[in-house]
Amino acid sequence: MSDPVLPTPEQLQRRLQELLRTTFAAPGNSPENPPTPTEPADKVPAAIQDFHLTPREVKAHLDRFVIRQDEAKKVLGIAVCDHYNNARVMASREAGAPPLEYAKQNVLIAGPTGVGKTYLVKHVADLVGVPFVKADATKFSETGYVGGDVDDLVRELVQKADGNLALAQYGIIYIDEIDKIATSREVTGRDVSGRGVQTTLLKLMEETDVALRGGNDLQSQVQAALEFQKRGKVNRESINTRHILFIVSGAFDKLTDVVSRRLKKTGIGFGADPAAATTLPAELLRLAGTSDFVDYGLEPEFIGRLPVRVVCESLAEGDLFEILKQSEGSLIRQYERAFAAYGIEAVFSDEALRHIASLAVRENTGARGLMTTCEGLLREFKYRLPGSPVRTLEVTPAVLENPDAAIERLLQAGAEDARQAQSLVITQFAERFGEQHGYRFRFSPEALEAILAKSLEKNISARDLCEGLFKDYQFGLGLIHRNSGQTDFVIPAEAVESPDRVLSQWVVASHRTQDEHDENS
Ligand code: ADP
Repeated sequence: MSDPVLPTPEQLQRRLQELLRTTFAAPGNSPENPPTPTEPADKVPAAIQDFHLTPREVKAHLDRFVIRQDEAKKVLGIAVCDHYNNARVMASREAGAPPLEYAKQNVLIAGPTGVGKTYLVKHVADLVGVPFVKADATKFSETGYVGGDVDDLVRELVQKADGNLALAQYGIIYIDEIDKIATSREVTGRDVSGRGVQTTLLKLMEETDVALRGGNDLQSQVQAALEFQKRGKVNRESINTRHILFIVSGAFDKLTDVVSRRLKKTGIGFGADPAAATTLPAELLRLAGTSDFVDYGLEPEFIGRLPVRVVCESLAEGDLFEILKQSEGSLIRQYERAFAAYGIEAVFSDEALRHIASLAVRENTGARGLMTTCEGLLREFKYRLPGSPVRTLEVTPAVLENPDAAIERLLQAGAEDARQAQSLVITQFAERFGEQHGYRFRFSPEALEAILAKSLEKNISARDLCEGLFKDYQFGLGLIHRNSGQTDFVIPAEAVESPDRVLSQWVVASHRTQDEHDENS
């Protein structure tokens, strides 16, 4: 037996490289596997060069999608316009010009879940034409080893911008649940590493360079090694966070306690404000000042980097109705499209929308309740109507309250409609048959019923069925016509069961008529 052929060290290295490449360089983009940059980082993107929106235009755009939250729309409009106007001016300045002072208008939005905070930010980013990334503050850990790495957010912007580094540097990073990284034990009831996360976020919000490739993980290191092999150097491209707009949000429900405590305290000796105790939570949130956020557990430097603050209000039943009825992004449009894909036109009455809103508001999750409510209410319709003869679904409260009965009714009506359409097809078949051959050809009512039943049973169209059943009738009836002069044929039900037998009986009978005729003459 000969010795196995051992690979040379070069072959071994190549195989190892191949293995590493196929194992780690997964297709598609991920923060660790960023796309190849398509635009150099120092090029000013068109979205910034051409930025000329006004706060009122931003609000008008948001009004198309977001119901209420007027204050947030205004505040975002102002902050976004300031931010991108400043970016444009900075970009157009000559190199070497003295720097302009500018405090970034990062935004903090407080408000309960499902009231449109993310939705607002997403539409702002769409309007400006910059990438947008959302994350929950709770997924980060101080070091980036346990949870995610905050720098990943910046790399994700590059991905969202399809590798356009220049555009990524003007993106919007939106971080939700920021209240969960407050450090006050009294408020959060747990000891979180919130301070560290705040510090790392702060660094991003100020100005820093983030490497296009994360440095910590094995995959990045392998990629860097491969790149070094290929090009003799490692891609050290980085993204600067100077022009990234940060928007953070959270429910901050316990912040109201902090504010109301302060109000009571400051009230002592100055004539306590009796209204403080009964003030609505949204009102209390609106009264929150920097010191309240610090008492709540946000670092002064951190909250200091969030100079623009606004409260989103909770949504009442009427607002949910408006969202369904008016918002361009209404869930109802989505349902209409879903039914239309099966050839079914769904029409929602206003009363049905009110009914949905009244159920959704009980979920206490803002507009998110609409999704679960609609899903539950319309599930049976979406399951049973596609593929049925039903072409129109009129959604009313009664229909929503009793889906099974409504579906049965629709299916029966649908079946009746289909029957009528098929009867017409059968009658037309008979008429055309007669016209083509120069005599009257009709089906008896019983024959018509029998054809309908058979076409349902065999699951073929009535026209195809008739063409198959009566294919020999053209010749046979012609013969009869010649023998007996008969010009009017009424097809009986038994001809549907046994077309050939009936036809041959008729032909035989017509011969007999012919013979009798001959004998008599
Ligand atoms: P959150 O305030 O928790 O960020 P979202 O913005 O994610 O809530 O809202 C979830 C969904 O509910 C949105 O995608 C949108 O379809 C709908 N929605 C929420 N608030 C509004 C609103 N004020 N107007 C219109 N749609 C809304």
